[in-house]
Amino acid sequence: MTAIATRLEQKRDVSGAFPGPRSQELAQRRSAVVAAGVASSVPVYAADADGAIIRDVDGNQFIDLGSGIAVTSVGASDPAVVAAVQESVEHFTHTCFMVTPYESYIAVAEQLNALTPGDHEKRTVLFNSGAEAVENAVKVARLATGRNAVVVFDHAYHGRTNLTMALTAKSMPYKHGFGPFAPEVYRVPMSYPYREETEIKGEDAARRAIAMIEKQIGADQVAAILIEPVQGEGGFIVPAEGFLPTLAAWAKETGVVFIADEVQSGFCRTGAWFASEHENVVPDLITMAKGIAGGLPLSAVTGRADLLDAVHGGGLGGTYGGNPVACAAALAAIGTMKEQDLPARAGHIGDTIGSRLRALAEKTDIIGEVRGRGAMMAIELVKPGTGATTKEPNPEATKAIVQAALAEGVILLTCGTYGNVIRLLPPLVISDELLVDALDVLETAILAA
Ligand SMILES: *Cc1c(COP(=O)(O)O)cnc(C)c1O
Repeated sequence: MTAIATRLEQKRDVSGAFPGPRSQELAQRRSAVVAAGVASSVPVYAADADGAIIRDVDGNQFIDLGSGIAVTSVGASDPAVVAAVQESVEHFTHTCFMVTPYESYIAVAEQLNALTPGDHEKRTVLFNSGAEAVENAVKVARLATGRNAVVVFDHAYHGRTNLTMALTAKSMPYKHGFGPFAPEVYRVPMSYPYREETEIKGEDAARRAIAMIEKQIGADQVAAILIEPVQGEGGFIVPAEGFLPTLAAWAKETGVVFIADEVQSGFCRTGAWFASEHENVVPDLITMAKGIAGGLPLSAVTGRADLLDAVHGGGLGGTYGGNPVACAAALAAIGTMKEQDLPARAGHIGDTIGSRLRALAEKTDIIGEVRGRGAMMAIELVKPGTGATTKEPNPEATKAIVQAALAEGVILLTCGTYGNVIRLLPPLVISDELLVDALDVLETAILAA
């Protein structure tokens, strides 16, 4: 295994003005033409990006600890992805798989059927975005079971379309004012170990949710349970051990389709190909997007053949779903993940981040918890002195830390229902040296807050 070649020097450099004159000019042009509802968390504009570095239009270089929201796991312009896209686009840009099909779509389905958990007979269908994959997984579950209800969890995030807004837990900014929402969506308590009032085992937290489902909906009315094995936007919440397997076992007993939304946690991010694997959960359906195609828009639903094949011809699809250029990119990105053994690399990154942040938590009382799996790590920040008692969320410090790190050349994302979680999602190809440099910056920013 040789390291991936990079074009841009993998080095942080914010010696220029910040935000520089070109970024400021673009911000002005933008405000006159781009809808205000699209917000950007960083005030600089990208000119180039490679590996774990984003270079802005004024020549500043930032270490990217967000990967464009968990997308560029193989780096921002992986040479294998770039070459595959160029090769593909020279032949055709689009024919529509529903009109004139092509091989790369089939090859992606073969890969996903082989890589996802379980050795049962599987089928795959491709789409463009994570939300679209989630919508279609629900369609499949409803048709295959003949039932309507969908069970989701506190702190869940599943997208911004009408059905996925209903599935998402957080009002502001995702749902506020955008109703009415789709019916037959029921929310039950998540296992959120840090914020349980009294410690509760994963199995018991699952039984708490199951009791609500049985009382309030009725098991025989439920088409699907939809859950992120590690919650993303909700705050990188890892449920207590036993929670996911207990839910999956109950779903199996009652004929409920268990859907794992691995849009953020999939494709090596957590130290395994899919986060479901950490507890040997075999979902009936898996939704995937984000890291799947090295940055090109592609998403997928993979799962039990009997469920997916229950749908009549023409019932699933979309004009662009499984675009040939995106499929070529996915095949190349998956190739890089295998070649570079990115599941192992994610585990190593997680160990580096985890030990560093846990040591830091000893030095400051605003770190309530360090948690996550693999290279999907986060810190939850609380008001000073409340860590052992009320655990009062500290969104102010969260903001201040992210801004201070950015000014030093490190891009960080926040998340969490209470806006008090900093999440670390580095490209999995980041070098140890660059990662340590970014963690130095983060540590300084935390200690200053
Ligand atoms: C990002 C995300 C989605 C939505 O994906 P889009 O591509 O933005 O539509 C759905 N589920 C999870 C878990 C996500 O993290």
